[in-house]
Amino acid sequence: MDLLKNKIKAEGVVLSETVLKVDSFLNHQVDPELMVEIGKEFAQRFKDQGITKVLTIESSGIAPGVMTALQLEVPLVFARKKKSLTLSEGILSSKVYSFTKKEENTISISHKYIQNDDRVLLIDDFLANGQAALGLIDLVKQAGAEVAGIGIVIEKAFQDGGKLVRETGYRVESLAEIQSLENGQVQFKQEEAKV
Ligand code: 5GP
Repeated sequence: MDLLKNKIKAEGVVLSETVLKVDSFLNHQVDPELMVEIGKEFAQRFKDQGITKVLTIESSGIAPGVMTALQLEVPLVFARKKKSLTLSEGILSSKVYSFTKKEENTISISHKYIQNDDRVLLIDDFLANGQAALGLIDLVKQAGAEVAGIGIVIEKAFQDGGKLVRETGYRVESLAEIQSLENGQVQFKQEEAKV
């Protein structure tokens, strides 16, 4: 998705060989127009999958997730990372190790909002080591629902997550795939030559 790649090129800050900061449009300040386009792109890619819910993790997955849900005309559910007083009954939980924060979080959803007849599209901001995506898959399975696919805004293709998550057999669509962050430069994966 060229719009997103151009935004990453213009505003992304390479913090190290493994971490990209995109605080100006995705992880802190949010660019609503870009989010609308991201939502349209995911909806286009997954429109034939009979999706009934979009599921993401707070907080950075919510903006792209809600725009995707808007386009697909289904609700968005976001997994919580902290215990909530109002989230008490029928809770499903999974443990997720955070790549950026180097800590383990328990993510939770209420079973009420993902039920066994749901077909769920998972959306997240980044795919690094795949732990967040695997945690979301686990929650959907615990709910007895189906994973209809996984949409990632930025995949760091040089980390293990892409392989790990694709090995589950689910379709993974990433809007920008980064090959390397070496020498302070964002290098995108070459798109397959079009014939
Ligand atoms: P994973 O579970 O795939 O290792 O990491 C996914 C989560 O870690 C994402 O939801 C995202 O919040 C965070 N993350 C991983 N890598 C990066 C990165 O390079 N930059 C930012 N801003 N967040 C990242």
